[in-house]
Order: sequence, then C-alpha cells, then structure tokens
Amino acid sequence: MSSKPNLSIIIPVHNEEENILELYERLYSTLSLPSLIETTYEIIFIDDGSTDGTFEEIKKIKNSKVKVVRFQRNYGKAAALSCGFKRSKGDFVITMDGDLQDDPKEIPRFIEELKRYDMVSGWKNKRQDPISKTLPSKVFNRLTRFITGVEVHDFNCGYKAYNNYVVKNINLYGELHRYIPALVYWKGYTVGEIEVEHHPRVHGESKYGIERLLKGFLDLITVTFLMMYKKRPLHVFGGIGILFGLSGVIISIYLIVLWAAGLKIGDRPLLMLGILLTVTGAQFISLGLIGELITNSRNNDDYVIKYDSYELENGR
Ligand code: UDP
Ligand code: MG
Repeated sequence: MSSKPNLSIIIPVHNEEENILELYERLYSTLSLPSLIETTYEIIFIDDGSTDGTFEEIKKIKNSKVKVVRFQRNYGKAAALSCGFKRSKGDFVITMDGDLQDDPKEIPRFIEELKRYDMVSGWKNKRQDPISKTLPSKVFNRLTRFITGVEVHDFNCGYKAYNNYVVKNINLYGELHRYIPALVYWKGYTVGEIEVEHHPRVHGESKYGIERLLKGFLDLITVTFLMMYKKRPLHVFGGIGILFGLSGVIISIYLIVLWAAGLKIGDRPLLMLGILLTVTGAQFISLGLIGELITNSRNNDDYVIKYDSYELENGR
C-alpha cells in the first residue's frame, strides 16, 4: 500500500433526492480534516433505480472524484453494493447509507480499525429508528449470531469498511447484503466491529419494511448452508435423504406387520397427504439450495446499467 491511503466510499441510493447534496457536503468536510488530509478518495454513488431527482442531484456535484452509476431499475441494495465493489479502486472501501443516518465523522475510526481486521462492521447501538424496525432487527441479529457463530451485533448495518481484497471476493445478490459479516468470515477473513453514531432519518422514507425483512430470513438458510457445506452438498441432501428413506422403511415394516397380523391398516387420507407434503417439501428445499449454490458460484451481475461515469471517463 502506498503511504497515501486510497479510499473508496460507496453509497447506494434509492429515492434520496433531499439527502444527496447535504451528505456530500458532510463527507467533503470530513475528508478535508487534518487526520485524513493524506488520504485520496473517490465517492461512488449507485443510483438504484430512483424515480425522483436523485440522479440529477448527484450530477450537480462538481468534483471529479465523485462517480455515479445509475441502474435501469431498482435492483436492491445487494446489487448496488456489488456494483460499487466491482468499481472501487481504493485500498480501503467504505459503504454507507445515503440517508444521512450514518455520520461521515466515523470514517477515521473505521480506517484505524482496518489495520487490525480485514473488515470492520458498524454497530448502531443507539439506533434512531422506530421500534417496528429496531425490535425485529434485534431478533434477526440474535438469530444470525447464533446460527453463524459470528459475534457481530448489527449484521445489516449499512456502514462498513473493508480492505479492498475482501470486496473483490464476495458475491452479493438478493438480500445477502444483510449477512456480509458472516459471508466475509466464512471466506476466512477477520471481522471487527465498532459502535457508530446513528441519526434519525429526516428526509425521505425507509425502503426496508417488515416484508423485506421476512424475505431476508429465507436467505439465512442459504447463508447457513453456504457456511457449512458449500463443497459437499451431498452431506446435506444425503443426510436428509437417509433420514426420510429410513423413516419410510420403518413405517412400511410397521404397516406390513400390522397387515400380516390381520389388523386393519386404516383408511386415512390425511396420512397420505402428510407424507406427500413432507416429501415434496424436502425435495423443493433441496432443489432451492442447489439453485442457490449455482447462483452463488457464478459472478452474477444481474443488473442493467443505464449510466456509468466510469465508462464515460474511459472515452465512451
Ligand atoms: N437503498 C437502495 N436500494 C433499495 C433500498 C434502499 O439503494 O432498494 C438505499 C437507501 O437509499 C439508503 C440505504 O440503501 O441509502 C439504506 O436504506 P434505508 O435507509 O431505506 O434502510 P433502513 O436504514 O431504514 O434500514
Ligand atoms: Mg436508513
């Protein structure tokens, strides 16, 4: 690394028109602080299909270190971060939300911690959001911590910092951005955590309600599976298969014995339905997990870009 550290700040934004310029101003003053004066930087806005004036606001910023990539439609935060990761050129990569809830003043602390860890996750210990968000989030974090064994309190915090080799090695899609510390840890990198100050949202609305959280819960199965068995899917599916197959044999023997003893086996349609649903359910889950494995092993850029200042820079 050169003596002048290089910073890439990635900000995914979806309908944040009132926040863009103020966020830029705050970032700019932080990046001009004496402690960061040696640092060079780029700020990458990913406009994730905004339908308001977000893109126009970003384009008002007169600073060649500010880049913007605009998506064709709203693909979600994971896709936006993934795109930013691919574009980033800095030694250190910082992601933050574009709604002014994350405070740029934390950047020097993140950089300091990056000397000790491959990745540092923010922890909004005093999160300034309604209880309808903070409570499910607490449950989510406890469960994820329990299942993945990664000791982080705020998996989904948008404010995070990485050494650049980490971001080049993780593949985000769907709702997987919620589990970044687990995915990073599973790759073998170290994960640190710092508490960060959090401000209430003043302009615009939160895009993440309970329904997106529920969608994200399914991905916990994916993450658990990936963390444990990526290379040996047979160890999961074979296990399920043996369990089901054996239960089937035992039940059949029991029925045959009943029948041989001249007893009535009975006439139970629900029994049939129960078996049918359990078996098909298990098969569908297995199929889904195999689908996830395939998706995850590809480098899937499933977003379409409408505008890319990086490409324009290269003379297109
Ligand atoms: N965001 C995005 N795409 C989306 C939803 C959100 O890029 O589909 C951005 C949003 O503009 C913000 C950040 O992700 O910069 C965090 O979103 P939000 O503040 O709505 O989530 P919350 O903090 O309420 O969980
Ligand atoms: Mg927010």
